[in-house]
Amino acid sequence: MFKLARYLRQFKKEVIFGQIFKLTEAVFELIVPLVMAKIIDVGIKNKDVTYIFKMGGLMILLGIIGCSVALAGQYLASKASQGIGTTIRSDIFKHINLLSHAEIDKIGTPSLITRITNDVNQIQVAVAMFIRIAGRAPFLIIGATVMAISLDLKLSLIFLIIIPLVSFTLYMIMGKSIPFYHLIQKKLDKISLITRENLEGVRVIREFSKQESEKNRFEEASDDLMKTSINVGKISALLNPLTYIIMNFAIIAIIWFGGIQVESGILTQGQIIAFVNYMTQISLALVAVANLVVIFTKASACDARIYEIFETKPSIIEPSEEKNVVENIDNPKIEFKNVFFSYHKNNEYALTDVSIKIFAGETVGVIGGTGSGKSTLVNLIPRFYDIDKGEILVDGINVKDYKFKTLRMKIGIVPQHAVLFSGTITENMRWGCENAVISQIEKAIKIAQADEFIQKLQDGYDTKILQGGRNLSGGQKQRLTIARALVPNPQILILDDSASALDFATDAALRKAIKQNTENMTVLMISQRANTIKYADKIIVLDDGEVAGIGTHDELFQTCEVYREICLSQLSTDEKDNA
Ligand code: ADP
Ligand code: MG
Repeated sequence: MFKLARYLRQFKKEVIFGQIFKLTEAVFELIVPLVMAKIIDVGIKNKDVTYIFKMGGLMILLGIIGCSVALAGQYLASKASQGIGTTIRSDIFKHINLLSHAEIDKIGTPSLITRITNDVNQIQVAVAMFIRIAGRAPFLIIGATVMAISLDLKLSLIFLIIIPLVSFTLYMIMGKSIPFYHLIQKKLDKISLITRENLEGVRVIREFSKQESEKNRFEEASDDLMKTSINVGKISALLNPLTYIIMNFAIIAIIWFGGIQVESGILTQGQIIAFVNYMTQISLALVAVANLVVIFTKASACDARIYEIFETKPSIIEPSEEKNVVENIDNPKIEFKNVFFSYHKNNEYALTDVSIKIFAGETVGVIGGTGSGKSTLVNLIPRFYDIDKGEILVDGINVKDYKFKTLRMKIGIVPQHAVLFSGTITENMRWGCENAVISQIEKAIKIAQADEFIQKLQDGYDTKILQGGRNLSGGQKQRLTIARALVPNPQILILDDSASALDFATDAALRKAIKQNTENMTVLMISQRANTIKYADKIIVLDDGEVAGIGTHDELFQTCEVYREICLSQLSTDEKDNA
């Protein structure tokens, strides 16, 4: 049932010894009623205070030993469950890092986070409970029954009625409530999705004044969860009263029939008390088993969800060995040969029959409407996705023949959405190149036009960047991500609309600095603005996933309808007159 059960193997010792300790505790629990019976039958009956104290002391001693083994068992249970949780979490983390963008898109980031946190927690709880209860409760049930039988066979017939009765009650309640637990898990997922979306998109929500409708959406999901939880609560609430009613009837029966036995001298009063005690122990153990079933049900849902991540195999696989092809300087730096690509592996291509040659040292502009496939095009170069048909070559070698590291070391990519990590500016700059010296960083920062604003910061390069770069403006974040890509001095620099938040003057200064400082670097610059790429050596115009034209600004303006339209829609009137 549990696919992750193999993780228990690493903690075999803890699991086995934990169970042994918990069983030992149960043995002591089973002895206590016997001692109590002795106190009543001998001590109280003969008014022998010394005897009562002696046996009382024995009971305390049993209690202390029982408590110590229980603690040891508990400790091992925690050790195993926390250890398994940690191992599973880091394995998931490792596995997620192997997955390509396509798989991560499919499962979704919020769900991945819920699985690595909440779901692993449920597994941890299940492991701890398994060690604590799975062996002990059945042992107590059987042990208490045997003890009762050894006291008096006839009276223990009551147990034969009570145990099945309690078990049946529990079975009915569980049968009704378990389906709800699956539902609750799903509903919790929905709530965490809404919460996450809201917290991440809080600015957008305010901007569009969507607070009310978002509040309602959250309330709906929350109400839904509440109703289900109340339903399951109503059913589970029956659990304790019903078991206690049955237990109390059992006690009445024991006292009734036991009383007759006592009168005829077959049983003593103390033994009756011991009987009642065993009865209670059995009922409580049955309730514990019921709880264990609930916990296991929840955990099994989580188990499946976690296993789904492990089952997801990366679609992009690194070659085991790098081909030893000699790079030819005459080869284009980057070449697309009749490339077809679709995100969902259907025939809806995001890129259709794209053929491009880009040579070393060239600065290439990529322009096209939103959704025309610009980001898709550049994301294929570092092999974030695999293409359906055609070939992509870097330095004349198919990207599929590179080790990820070799390929990606050649490329510095600045994504459309600037992502920074919490830490200082310098730490962020060293992401692509751990040993970068400070002069290297300074140079990159200068080229990216970020030095001016960093100087104004109180702590300069040591300024702490908050998670997601929240303490920076959009333009500042963009400049830092550009600098970060420049630090390792990549052969290919890809800027995916990375200057969109910069004002025109800074944008121009950035382009100039990149041109001056990176003679041999091949630069791909995506932009929505014709002005930004106007002076590129070559411009690629994309239209609905197809190449609409390749050439210089002047050539394209004459020959490419799509390009001319973009330019005309953006140029100011007097520029148009001059054009
Ligand atoms: P651009 O950068 O030119 O605005 P994109 O390359 O981002 O355009 O998108 C091209 C097309 O591919 C769009 O139709 C978009 O909906 C689709 N697309 C982009 N990213 C994904 C993704 N991760 N999963 C599925 N479809 C995507
Ligand atoms: Mg884009």
